[in-house]
Amino acid sequence: MRKLLIAGNWKMNKTVPEALELAGELKRRLDGISDRDILICPPFTALYAVGKELEGSNVKLGGQNMYFEEQGAFTGEISPVMLRDVGCSYVILGHSERRHIFGETDDLINKKVLSAVKHDLIPILCVGELLEEREAGRTKEVVKNQVLEGLKGLTPLDEFVIAYEPVWAIGTGKTATPEQAEEVHSFIRELLSDLFGREKAELTRILYGGSVKPENAGELLKMENVDGALVGGASLKADSFEKIVKFDAEG
Ligand code: PEP
Repeated sequence: MRKLLIAGNWKMNKTVPEALELAGELKRRLDGISDRDILICPPFTALYAVGKELEGSNVKLGGQNMYFEEQGAFTGEISPVMLRDVGCSYVILGHSERRHIFGETDDLINKKVLSAVKHDLIPILCVGELLEEREAGRTKEVVKNQVLEGLKGLTPLDEFVIAYEPVWAIGTGKTATPEQAEEVHSFIRELLSDLFGREKAELTRILYGGSVKPENAGELLKMENVDGALVGGASLKADSFEKIVKFDAEG
């Protein structure tokens, strides 16, 4: 049985006082929830303070990106050791904004994934097709390539999460239908089975991301192969993130 993971990607939002206010609010409102994992990923500048605020809480902390080296002359970068140091247990890697705005390649993302697991961080590998790729019928080909390249070198013993985020659905208000999401998620699970065996594929969480809101979270999260959500915009307010986390699986 896979435990749901609801993750908030705050992107480049929130000063330290703003981040502390939201994290404190979430810690109070989500206290005691143990049947699903909850994760927030503030910007780097707020990680240390938010990590302290979350000590002893069920809300986990993650980074939004990292470099694969441990330390050295890499101006402007953050290492896996630094993320661990401030209390992170997860890191988002290969987000579409990293791929498309900052030109990150599958090869670079794979180095980061390997480095994350080496340092006991659970990577959330983001994959997803552009609108023109979907319209050209290339969704599965694109996603397959990103999954195979991103996970190269991992073993069935390594813990990782996949986030399927169709690029046309991120920050646009357009959400994939539950059926569109399920089709790609079950395809990814088959890929994982081919790569790592059925048991590992069944244990691995595949999140959906792309304009998830309280109004659509339930129908997406009820799909068999949708094991959680990576939430951008709706994770920036305590009300909407709380509602997504507390969606009723039975309702
Ligand atoms: C994201 O940041 O990964 C994301 C899916 O954003 P949004 O929920 O705003 O579409």
